[in-house]
Amino acid sequence: MSAANDTLDPFPSAGGSQDVFQARGARVPIPLIERADGVYLYDRDGREYMDLSSGPVVSNIGHGNSIVADAMARQARRLDYVFYRVGRHQPNIDLSARIAALAGPGFERVCFSSGGSEAIEVAIKFLRAEAIALGQPQRRHIISCMPSYHGGTVTALALSGDRDLAAFLDGFGGMSPKIPAPMDYRLPPNHSVDSHARACAQALEDTIAGLGADNVLAFFFEPVGGVATGCLVPPASWFRAIREICTRHGIALVFDEVLCGTGRTGRFLAAHHWPDALPDIVVMAKGLASGYAPLAATLFSAERVERLAALTGFNFTHTYAANPIACAVGLAVLDEYQRMDLIVRARERGAYLRRGLDTLAARSRLVGHVRGLGLLMALELVADKDTKARFDGDAIASYVVRRCALEHGLMIYTRRTNASRFGDWVIVSPPLTVSESECDEMLRRLQRTLNDAAPILRGSEGQRDASD
Ligand code: PLP
Repeated sequence: MSAANDTLDPFPSAGGSQDVFQARGARVPIPLIERADGVYLYDRDGREYMDLSSGPVVSNIGHGNSIVADAMARQARRLDYVFYRVGRHQPNIDLSARIAALAGPGFERVCFSSGGSEAIEVAIKFLRAEAIALGQPQRRHIISCMPSYHGGTVTALALSGDRDLAAFLDGFGGMSPKIPAPMDYRLPPNHSVDSHARACAQALEDTIAGLGADNVLAFFFEPVGGVATGCLVPPASWFRAIREICTRHGIALVFDEVLCGTGRTGRFLAAHHWPDALPDIVVMAKGLASGYAPLAATLFSAERVERLAALTGFNFTHTYAANPIACAVGLAVLDEYQRMDLIVRARERGAYLRRGLDTLAARSRLVGHVRGLGLLMALELVADKDTKARFDGDAIASYVVRRCALEHGLMIYTRRTNASRFGDWVIVSPPLTVSESECDEMLRRLQRTLNDAAPILRGSEGQRDASD
């Protein structure tokens, strides 16, 4: 029986689910999900799916958490909304204090918004306002990596490193300058991971020199990658190099932790893994409210915020910024992190799951590389393990795997980026609440999924994966 909801009319004459906007002939069925609990999602026909990627790496505390749901309802009854420019409220004050304490020195001020792209735009607009206020209006270039992803609003798209977006953005100011991301699987000839990272850092230095350091506003980077790089973890030398370059040129270093922040990698901020290379600004979203409310945060030093406040101030606003219900959810989510010790669990379960993924990769001809940190990992899918060859043409390997996964009760989030120029991967990032036995079951289902996907991807139903 097919895993998708066969009875569902996905394209009614009016209305329809959000995916009516996607290309017709979608390659992966989209089941109608009715409820969720822990790491499980259930469709309206009662089929169960394990949430292997926490949606798009969102549901860090797992689904169906009644403590958070109750906190949300209590807040809605007590104070649903007040606009922060005209009325203060306690959940805002409490949540910014809590995040600042967890983030540590250098991140005392927290500007809330509703989603990752908005929070990225907050960082850009703050830096631009600061440059203008300091008499440096020529500072407008923002450098980022190819590949990378920084969000879906027009400016965040321009920051994102995806070559297909360049055509899309033609006429909208184009892309920001790009340097190569320090990818670590397919290295240029005669390079080690470290020497390639050094070459990428040199590209940052050269790009800054080409633009003129005084014209550059910032360098944006995902310290642990997500969907654009398949959870790339650069070497420590890279972090030291980019910190040194940005400091020397007076350029803001911004870490996009929309996906990798809030404990996902085993530290509250991914930046905490490299304490001698902390950024100037951090952007967080996704796991912060773990899907229970739209909530994002852009973190600054108190000094930086006071300096701008004494000049022009940061005068941009979003109606739902620091919404009381979203802040109450953020507080309840962080309480749950503490109660269940989720950041430690991200490290421990991450190590456990990693061992299982390594075993699975060793036995599968489809998996060329496993990478990531904590409970944020990816399997790189390859046509040939020896040559690291990618699947070409229309064989979007990650979509085939996603489709097969549904048949085995596994919901995977992976989206094709950069037309697979940099690779195809499956994101493995279950809720941080996942148990060892649930990891085992996910691995079993993943194994069966790869078994089914291998012959399809190799164009022959006769070839089974070695991991049968
Ligand atoms: N930055 C990164 C690294 C992301 O992964 C995403 C979303 O996937 C965003 C920014 C944009 O966040 P949102 O989709 O909440 O606007």
